[in-house]
Amino acid sequence: MSPALLSDDFKAEPYWWEAVPQGTAEPGPLPETAEVVVVGSGYAGLSAAIALARAGRSVVVIEAKSAGHGASTRSVGMIGGRLRQSLAALARAFGAERADALLRETWDAYGWFRNFIRDERIDCDLALTGRLICAWTPGDMAALDKQADLLATRFGIPAQMIDKAGLRAELATDLYHGAMVLPQDGGLDPAKYHHGLLQLAKAAGVTVIEHTAVTGITESGAATRVITERGALTAPEVILATNAYTGRELPWYRRRVIAVGSHMIATSPLPAGTVDRLLPAGRLINDTRKLAYAFRASPDRRRLLVGGRALQVDRVDPIAIARRLKEVMVQAFPTLADAGVSHAWEGRVGFTFDRVPHIGRRGKLHYVLGCNGSGIVMSSYLGHRIAEMVMTGSTTSFFAGNELPSRPYYHGIPWFMPPMTFALSLQDRARSWLG
Ligand SMILES: Cc1cc2nc3c(=O)[nH]c(=O)nc-3n(C[C@H](O)[C@H](O)[C@H](O)COP(=O)(O)OP(=O)(O)OC[C@H]3O[C@@H](n4cnc5c(N)ncnc54)[C@H](O)[C@@H]3O)c2cc1C
Repeated sequence: MSPALLSDDFKAEPYWWEAVPQGTAEPGPLPETAEVVVVGSGYAGLSAAIALARAGRSVVVIEAKSAGHGASTRSVGMIGGRLRQSLAALARAFGAERADALLRETWDAYGWFRNFIRDERIDCDLALTGRLICAWTPGDMAALDKQADLLATRFGIPAQMIDKAGLRAELATDLYHGAMVLPQDGGLDPAKYHHGLLQLAKAAGVTVIEHTAVTGITESGAATRVITERGALTAPEVILATNAYTGRELPWYRRRVIAVGSHMIATSPLPAGTVDRLLPAGRLINDTRKLAYAFRASPDRRRLLVGGRALQVDRVDPIAIARRLKEVMVQAFPTLADAGVSHAWEGRVGFTFDRVPHIGRRGKLHYVLGCNGSGIVMSSYLGHRIAEMVMTGSTTSFFAGNELPSRPYYHGIPWFMPPMTFALSLQDRARSWLG
């Protein structure tokens, strides 16, 4: 008999919500005014709110669902200090000098982020055990080798290569041809981190209004009017931190963020010692497939978590998510064929057309958008930087002042993703056969 796919206690929601359940309290009364209104209560919105409230501003955060209901409590929880784009691609888009500056600022942001967690004593199972970027093909191995050299020599970012035999000591799979090791990367519990930010925001005096969707924003004179489904409030400054959940009420921004569906599963607790055998060094794992997958242990090292990109943005059957990602897991770790899936969930990652995060100001609205899958560090960091822009009118961040691009015929529904994702999955298969 084939093993059951789902455990008896299966839930179609993030594993992380076990430790930090989503809030269900009725929203408090909507204030009529504030000095700053922040739309969205993920890392970006809360980080901006904390910085502003600590500087003495009255701040209201408005969230359509429960606090952190967007991507911020759904992720793999991997952290590091690189951008998704290669230096060459950044140089083509922004010029060599700005590309260098963007990468350096990203690495500095990672240092800022670790200090912030330490200084604020946020209890979020932070573990800097390093990351492996595993090569899907021998060609990927050569590309990673070049990248490791560039990161180490030009940017001082520690990165080393290990071959297939070396990888076997770090990861119990024969699926890959070797890996780049980023020893200073790590992982955390994304929902505990979000909860820590929420506590800091409330302690700083931020008013967080949950279960209240913003339905429109209008500018009139010196103030901006933020209209919600429960009434309106006015503020001289408004920050948009809605990322991949940006809706039709914000059409200009929606045309500039590509919401990419992303899926995850967690296994039931595995027999004692299993995770230590599979991931003896406790690394977090990404791979170089065009449709990349991610693996990590739960912080208590009892479960394996697997993440991968979805074919469509949302409303996917959780059982289909469980089935697909379990196949991916068993392909890498055949000994897990009997493991049950206890949690399967989806979330949205906010990509931009130039694949870099953006902060800026348009009219009276400030925005922080498009963390391109690296938002734990970058949404937090850029939240602080947008707060600086609100307070001083400027910032030295290189993520400000870049054009936030869109494309003709794109109105916020990424119709091109399903065919593109399918094509990428075919490419991965072909690349693995051809070697
Ligand atoms: C499955 C998955 C895996 C990921 N893995 C990683 C990882 O390993 N490492 C990493 O760094 N990043 C990862 N990410 C990305 C990371 O989680 C995000 O970049 C980050 O959480 C974005 O934070 P944010 O504050 O910008 O947006 P969000 O957390 O998405 O917050 C936006 C909020 O705005 C609210 N909102 C939208 N419209 C309105 C409105 N009209 N009115 C009121 N509220 C509104 C939404 O409800 C939402 O709560 C992953 C994401 C997913 C989905």
